[in-house]
Amino acid sequence: VDPVLEVEDLRVEFRTRDGVARVLNGVSYHVGAGETLAVLGESGSGKSVTAQAVMGILDTPPAFVTGGSVRFHGEELLTASADRRREVRAEGIAMIFQDALSALNPVFTVGFQIEEQLRLRRGMSRSEARKRAVELLDLVKIPHARFRVRDYPHQFSGGMRQRVMIAMALALDPEVLIADEPTTALDVTVQAQIMDLLAEIQRERRMGLVLITHDLGVVAEVADRIVVMYAGRIVEEADAFALFRSPGHPYTAALMRSLPRLDDKGSTLETIKGLPPSLLRIPSGCPFHPRCPRAEDRCLAEVPPPLDLGGRTSACHFAPEVLGG
Ligand code: SF4
Ligand code: MG
Repeated sequence: VDPVLEVEDLRVEFRTRDGVARVLNGVSYHVGAGETLAVLGESGSGKSVTAQAVMGILDTPPAFVTGGSVRFHGEELLTASADRRREVRAEGIAMIFQDALSALNPVFTVGFQIEEQLRLRRGMSRSEARKRAVELLDLVKIPHARFRVRDYPHQFSGGMRQRVMIAMALALDPEVLIADEPTTALDVTVQAQIMDLLAEIQRERRMGLVLITHDLGVVAEVADRIVVMYAGRIVEEADAFALFRSPGHPYTAALMRSLPRLDDKGSTLETIKGLPPSLLRIPSGCPFHPRCPRAEDRCLAEVPPPLDLGGRTSACHFAPEVLGG
């Protein structure tokens, strides 16, 4: 697949009163049409910051992009004019968030919010836009869409509100949809429904989907490829099947051991010992070394570069051994 969205060697720092936090330290990933890329990591690993940099919605200051590239169909966005960036982001890349309430405007009906985009960006008349808004609510399976366009965000349940946000994100037919923890705030049943809906829409529209999550369980069924982030770096990239069959990085292996398994009810779950590092003081060498069961002297001294393991990479000095079990 030709990449539609490419992030390359992206670097972001937060300049805080306590010092410089190196939040992204050279993040690269890409997503193509019809492909689902899962970005997996604990909170603070840089998953959301990467997405915010792509969307141009970083809080600057304190956040500064200090290097790298974000390209849409090969066009550099980081240095494009503000107008051009807004255009590309309005038409090409859409984003949905964990919290639909904060993404939707409480004082307007959901119909109005969808219609406004269509009128502004597509030049639709009021009645055309209304018709399209109803279709979009239908598409995300909101019952009685014809009536619900007139409701306000607070009149929807959490799951339905998430659907409204998805409908809004789809209004301009984006080629790439970035979903940042889209189901984290919902209960398990509703989570599964929203994931199914996203997967279905992604397939039907051949959209690129970037699915950001801390939950390995969520990505198992929908991801084509997975990148695993730790301390502002990508520590492993692999296709989903290969990664689940045999992780190539000790951090991924630890995440998998902490995942509940349906077929293995009796076993106790391991949690990963220790906490993610402070980005103000990233450990020397491999940033995972304080928590890594395999760490050796070399890990404290040398930052492991991504090693090519044949169609997948792992940033661990001992990647081939980890992959071999
Ligand atoms: Fe563990 Fe060393 Fe590999 Fe880092 S480089 S993941 S510390 S074995
Ligand atoms: Mg986040």
